[in-house]
Amino acid sequence: MIPVRGFDGRKVAVLGLGRSGLATTRALVAGGAEPCLWDDSPEARAKAEAEGFTLTDLTRANAWDEVATLVVSPGIPHLYPEPNKLIARAMAAGVPVDNDIGLFFRSWATPDWDEMEQTPKLIAVTGSNGKSTTTALIHHILNVAGKPTQMAGNIGRGVLDLDPAEEGEVVVLELSSYQTELARALTPDVAVFTNLSPDHLDRHGGHGGYFAAKRRLFAEGGPDRAVVGVDEDEGRFLAGQLSQGPGDDRVIRISSGTKIDGPGWSVFARKGFLSEWRKGRQVASIDLREVKGLPGAHNHQNACAAYAAVRTLGLAPKVIEQAFHSFEGLPHRSQLVGERDGVRFVNDSKATNVDSAGKALQAFPHIRWIAGGLGKEGGIAALKPYLGSVVKAYLIGHSARDFALELGDTPHEICETMERAVARAAEEATAGETVLLAPAAASFDQYPNFEKRGEDFTARVRAVIGA
Ligand code: ADP
Repeated sequence: MIPVRGFDGRKVAVLGLGRSGLATTRALVAGGAEPCLWDDSPEARAKAEAEGFTLTDLTRANAWDEVATLVVSPGIPHLYPEPNKLIARAMAAGVPVDNDIGLFFRSWATPDWDEMEQTPKLIAVTGSNGKSTTTALIHHILNVAGKPTQMAGNIGRGVLDLDPAEEGEVVVLELSSYQTELARALTPDVAVFTNLSPDHLDRHGGHGGYFAAKRRLFAEGGPDRAVVGVDEDEGRFLAGQLSQGPGDDRVIRISSGTKIDGPGWSVFARKGFLSEWRKGRQVASIDLREVKGLPGAHNHQNACAAYAAVRTLGLAPKVIEQAFHSFEGLPHRSQLVGERDGVRFVNDSKATNVDSAGKALQAFPHIRWIAGGLGKEGGIAALKPYLGSVVKAYLIGHSARDFALELGDTPHEICETMERAVARAAEEATAGETVLLAPAAASFDQYPNFEKRGEDFTARVRAVIGA
């Protein structure tokens, strides 16, 4: 745990007592603060009390007297579409609003770092897609290279649950736009921006607000190195803004699909090969085509981002290449579940919208596509350009019939359930094809969440292929 510094003997309000709220509370107590805890849900309050914490009714009129800061959970809106009532009251009372990320950045470095030869470093990853994969890949590469490393943030552990840093350690954080927007301190050594596509727009007051939230990672404190995906206007703008000039190698530009020339530092993937260029020369090249844990152009973008991030720490291309090959991928994201008679079975249950399903459809050549669930606005019209690689679709869930109408000439069958879809796809698939779960829909019509849907797919595949 990282004890929170700077609030010794002072009151700090914590709103939202889920996993991160409780971890924050423990870290505040360890740092000597007096937490005042509240959650609108009686169950969450009961859980906090069961752990021995006392609640403070923050809905009372005088509740904000002497409160130094309010720390809120990422799920609670602080501004758009409208501030949560208690946050609005805190703001009206002049109480600064922060989150666990802000507390972490002000508390992580400790005086004993002065004695270290190699001070700990922090890599923070943000962007619309690929954050988890990139974060996990960086962590994996560092592990393979034998560097002490920990991973936290939106992935796995809460940031304040991390162990205090040891000499030479590298902490990798995945940060969502909600987290970067609110944190009052954000000072990574290396900041990574993967890409930008419209998401969570209601919470950020539109696309500009969403970009502004992510950009804070680069503005506040200024990282030593910035790894920036330049496949969208926003990334190109950000990279330009962070550079002193074209050859400034504090910024590493990354791309999936486009060669990046010029005197600066860049890492890009084209036709399955990753290339690193610096000062107008190619420094390294890696064949990504046989890297099973990172299929498709979208994962090649993640590979470029992770590669660039660890290159800033001086890791050798050969070591990174070796680590790519042992990366298994994250569950439910283009995850290879098994293979039988030349047919691959891939679980991308996390592809809950057309954007990520489109990436998955571009990642494999001959696809038996399992899709459907709780469809989103606009259906699957946006996937038309990628249907060329679909041999046949097996449709499940609530949206099965709507998807069938949109598929037109693409062969398809309504299967209703995962069990039937897997059985039919496995029965019909021939060598060289991929049975891919990439639903382009939410899971809530048939499952509690996308993880459970992916687990169901995996279990059924294993039963069918006898793995
Ligand atoms: P995040 O943490 O940003 O949600 P994940 O790594 O969990 O990203 O991937 C989420 C979904 O997006 C998955 O379906 C995955 O296949 C897809 N995806 C992964 N990387 C990218 C990328 N670089 N660009 C677009 N889609 C991606």
